[in-house]
Amino acid sequence: MGIELDINPIKKWLPQINNPLLIAGPCSLESEEQALETAKKLAKDPRVFIFRGGVWKPRTRPGSFEGVGSVGLEWLQKVKKETGLPVGTEVANAQHTEEALKAGLDVLWVGARSTASPFVVQEIADVLKGTDAVVMVKNPVNPDVQLWMGALERINQAGIKSLVAIHRGFTPFRETKYRNYPNWKTFIELRRLLPNLPVICDPSHIAGHRDFLQEISQKAFDMGMEGLMLESHRDPSCALSDKDQQVTPKELAKILDKLVIRYSSSPNKQFENQLELLRSRIDALDAELMEVLSSRVEIVKQIGQYKKENNVTALQINRWTELMNKRIDAGEKMNLNKTFVQILFQLIHEDSVRMQTEIMDKE
Ligand code: PEP
Ligand code: MN
Repeated sequence: MGIELDINPIKKWLPQINNPLLIAGPCSLESEEQALETAKKLAKDPRVFIFRGGVWKPRTRPGSFEGVGSVGLEWLQKVKKETGLPVGTEVANAQHTEEALKAGLDVLWVGARSTASPFVVQEIADVLKGTDAVVMVKNPVNPDVQLWMGALERINQAGIKSLVAIHRGFTPFRETKYRNYPNWKTFIELRRLLPNLPVICDPSHIAGHRDFLQEISQKAFDMGMEGLMLESHRDPSCALSDKDQQVTPKELAKILDKLVIRYSSSPNKQFENQLELLRSRIDALDAELMEVLSSRVEIVKQIGQYKKENNVTALQINRWTELMNKRIDAGEKMNLNKTFVQILFQLIHEDSVRMQTEIMDKE
């Protein structure tokens, strides 16, 4: 079951919002001019609601550009003054958090590496206590929904109600097309556990390359996320961090133009009626599916009993291999996804063996 955390809807802390929440800005702030020029271009687009800029940069390896540090907070203040856009940056320890709050930043976010450490999250939460800060929490680098949820809860327990989760993908365990594996099921699980928590997607850090931003952004809306955080730099080719995944404000606008925004429901009555009809057919088919599974269980148990009486093992590996191959073949002819059929029958078979060994072990 999900838990209802006491969370403010986005509109409460960003009343001007009339579209999905879009946060844009460079990966890192590099100079006052770079910050201001990029921000002024982004501010012309009414779809951009918040300006982002990394000041303290958590780099995987030492020696690369680690951010301009505290001086960047002054540039963010200037961006806010000159463009009117709310501004935000990443905080990774208590001192960052104190400085960012003192500088009056509108949004703070906890990065993926920090979310993975409950000590770091707690130290940030302790500083946030008693403030009305807006805080966003990126997923941890590993696809552990409990760790992500734990970080959100720590900050919520410090009294922060203006809370948003950011899905930025997970460290891949093998070579993939994207820099970070999106593993959408972790987002689905977070939504199930914390249904009233707004979640936005960070396609830049999932993609690792600008060529994939469009498809990932669309997928985020298809899944029902509430917004996007996209990295945008006045000249990505000169960016000091994450240059391959950044786009100019112009390119960003083109991506946004092509996006189809989806909502959790539709005002179209006919659509709602049709959906209800189709869903009732799914319900009926699921009921049939359960009947079939239950009949299968009865036969599995009978076989278990015969095997027991004849001292034959529950697991019959040849039969299992043959069955699996036949089911995959049949599935392919019926346009069923091969992996789906494989996983489904693995589960069914695992449970059959469990039932049969139980029968055998019963006195
Ligand atoms: C960033 O937003 O620039 C960043 C460092 O992201 P993440 O924490 O997702 O790696
Ligand atoms: Mn970045």
